[in-house]
Amino acid sequence: MGPCDADVAIVGGGYSGLWTAYYLTRLRPGLRVVLLEAERIGFGASGRNGGWCSCHFVGVEALLARAATRPVGIALQRAVFEAVDEIGRLCRSERIDCDYHRGGMLHFAANEAELHRLRERRRLLEACGFGREDHLWMDAGECRRRLGTPLALGGLLERHAAAVDPARLVLGLARAVERGGATLFEESPAVLVEPGRVRSVAGEVQAPVVLRATEGYTPRLPGVARDVIPVHSWMIATEPLSDALWDEIGLADRELFGDGRRMVTYGQKTRDGRIAFGSRGTYRFGSRIEERSGPDDPHFAPVRARLIEMLPMLERVAITHAWGGPLAIARDGRPFVTFDRATGFGAIGGYTGSGVAAAHLAGRSLAEIVVGEESPRTALPFVRGRPRRWEIEPLRWVGIASVLRVGEAADAAERRGRFPRLRDWFFRTMAGG
Ligand SMILES: Cc1cc2nc3c(=O)[nH]c(=O)nc-3n(C[C@H](O)[C@H](O)[C@H](O)COP(=O)(O)OP(=O)(O)OC[C@H]3O[C@@H](n4cnc5c(N)ncnc54)[C@H](O)[C@@H]3O)c2cc1C
Repeated sequence: MGPCDADVAIVGGGYSGLWTAYYLTRLRPGLRVVLLEAERIGFGASGRNGGWCSCHFVGVEALLARAATRPVGIALQRAVFEAVDEIGRLCRSERIDCDYHRGGMLHFAANEAELHRLRERRRLLEACGFGREDHLWMDAGECRRRLGTPLALGGLLERHAAAVDPARLVLGLARAVERGGATLFEESPAVLVEPGRVRSVAGEVQAPVVLRATEGYTPRLPGVARDVIPVHSWMIATEPLSDALWDEIGLADRELFGDGRRMVTYGQKTRDGRIAFGSRGTYRFGSRIEERSGPDDPHFAPVRARLIEMLPMLERVAITHAWGGPLAIARDGRPFVTFDRATGFGAIGGYTGSGVAAAHLAGRSLAEIVVGEESPRTALPFVRGRPRRWEIEPLRWVGIASVLRVGEAADAAERRGRFPRLRDWFFRTMAGG
């Protein structure tokens, strides 16, 4: 790429960086926006996620639960609903062929404790004024008609959620960003990202506005090693399934599906008739990022076991793909959009694994803030200062490993019909879940 000047330099070619660039060029046509991506567009989580374009936004539930913060929680939740729809609208208008289909997301309960939590969520949503147009309660029979799992005791279908092909979305978005006039450089890893400039092995960009959108890879950059931690999520995909199997499984409206455990599971029916399914998560000492792929890697066996437990008819079906990637968690567990007008430096991310719609909302807000346009989005609570940093190692590893282990143990105890109150309290307190 060589040295260049720009009005705005963005680091990171995932949804966050690209939506920010998209809205910057739409709000201010002619603005010189340059985006640097270390590998290829969509190399990070954006190109390999579970395709849940959903209204989950980490931290909303806590805001909804307290009377004092309820109004802002409702505003945030409605903004995420809108982001889910806006992505669909833009896919149509920008001709992004990513199989966007808004069939909702179905969380089912596989035991009494999960059923209790889902009922609590429904009660909370109703107390906040969300109604049948937003979510639908399903008893065991209705739930099993939607998703042929023998485990379902009941479920909650949240309507503001769409299945997408994540890689097609990020690649199509990149083309739309280029059509808007931004310049994208691939294979251009930034080694220094600071106010006024981005230094990359491929050259230096000087710009009065510099924005970082590096999510799970952030700890690799100097000076921000503890701003977020990378936690891995792991996924598998089956071979295309026969019509007979689909008759048993259901998902006639391509509903996204998962159960009610703490260690999140997420599945979708793909356009070519496979199931793509994943679960969280692992943290590696020192915020190391682990790359694994291939269905023969035994690392993916627990993910397959969870899928088979839910849908036993898949026992003999081949798993043809397996992969994973890092998502980012901020110390307080909340996403952030930061921008310091004095230095022109901003950062965005921390979606804790619910980033498909959230990155759209955050990127749009960041673009509005940069050009100085106020909107309902720029007043939302994720617009804030730099998040508190994580602890140093080995404290960080010990803390995160304990939370993940307690979460898994609590899920397992619930499967045995127990209510692990102490572990539940510990997990909620430590993980904000
Ligand atoms: C396996 C998996 C499944 C998931 N499933 C879902 C889901 O179903 N629904 C959902 O809502 N969320 C899901 N997520 C989370 C979601 O994918 C992310 O929150 C979202 O994609 C984040 O987008 P991003 O642009 O902020 O980060 P990323 O997509 O990770 O992009 C960051 C980019 O920055 C680049 N980069 C990093 N460092 C540098 C540097 N120094 N110089 C230049 N470029 C750099 C990286 O190469 C990368 O391309 C999942 C995540 C994973 C890993």
